[in-house]
Amino acid sequence: MNESKLDFTPIAEALAAASTIGAVGHVRPDGDALGSVVGLVLAARAAGKDAVASFGEPFVIGEEFAFLDLEVLVPPSQFPKGLDLAIVCDTSARDRVGSVVGRVESAATVGVIDHHRSNGGFGDVTVIDPDAAATTQLVYRVLRLLEWPVTPQVATALYTGLVTDTGRFQYSSTTPEVHTIAAELIEAGAVPATVGQSLFEEAPFGYYGVVAAVLGRAVLEADIGLVWSVLSKKDVADAKIPPTATDGLIDLVRMATEAGVACLLKEAAPGVVKGSLRSRGVVNVAAIAEALGGGGHHNAAGFTVEGSPEQAIAKVRELLA
Ligand code: 5GP
Ligand code: MN
Repeated sequence: MNESKLDFTPIAEALAAASTIGAVGHVRPDGDALGSVVGLVLAARAAGKDAVASFGEPFVIGEEFAFLDLEVLVPPSQFPKGLDLAIVCDTSARDRVGSVVGRVESAATVGVIDHHRSNGGFGDVTVIDPDAAATTQLVYRVLRLLEWPVTPQVATALYTGLVTDTGRFQYSSTTPEVHTIAAELIEAGAVPATVGQSLFEEAPFGYYGVVAAVLGRAVLEADIGLVWSVLSKKDVADAKIPPTATDGLIDLVRMATEAGVACLLKEAAPGVVKGSLRSRGVVNVAAIAEALGGGGHHNAAGFTVEGSPEQAIAKVRELLA
């Protein structure tokens, strides 16, 4: 197994030494951020620690994650101050910690477990491996080192990060190690059919209308290899679906063979646009996102800008050229 050469010892020692532990994902957590904090906290509790998980406002979790043991989560306003150890998962950018950042920083030690290349220099003890497919892959390595219990619920949480961040074991990050860990997590009690059904095989009927609207207004700019579309607040309101139910839309927008780069612009608030970028090839969309104040990976990144969706796509177009 081609395991990374990173030193997991400092973070493992910090976890072992702490009595009170908090784990925090990035704002608007995806399957990897949620899976990481839920898995880490459940394992910490099973090891006898006093542990909770949280993430910054808005404190909203999509229905599709209901199969996770979400009881470990507390709203950011209830995340304890002055913990022995607070661990930030799936980001190392301070601004991505959101409204809970003050409470995180009041901990005696701040740790970071992440797989994004852009390291904001945040955290006293860090494990940051851009070659890892998912943050849960790194959490799993830490748990193995600590010999903390990987219960069926821990395994389910960690598997969730793997399956979502690898695009169901399809992206280039899908290594033999990823499959080996997935196998071990299934041995430990994760059930792929349960996770997959909830995350990828179900959506409220209103989602069909959103898909039709977003794909219907998609624009292909074949000369620069860009396909893009807009998700309006009205689309979501008309469909009567929670905003979190639209997280998979970018995976439909990016399918055009003619385009190596895809962008979905979501109206986040009046005059505020959240962009999702995806690349299939050589274009590093993290660089585009970073130029717009965001970040991410080579093939998947995001940003938030002020202005209209048209103004946002004009900026992306300029950076692509
Ligand atoms: P998504 O488009 O699914 O929201 O995000 C794709 C990837 O980019 C994820 O790895 C996510 O963590 C990262 N990302 C999305 N938005 C931002 C942002 O505003 N700042 C940073 N640093 N990363 C982001
Ligand atoms: Mn991730």
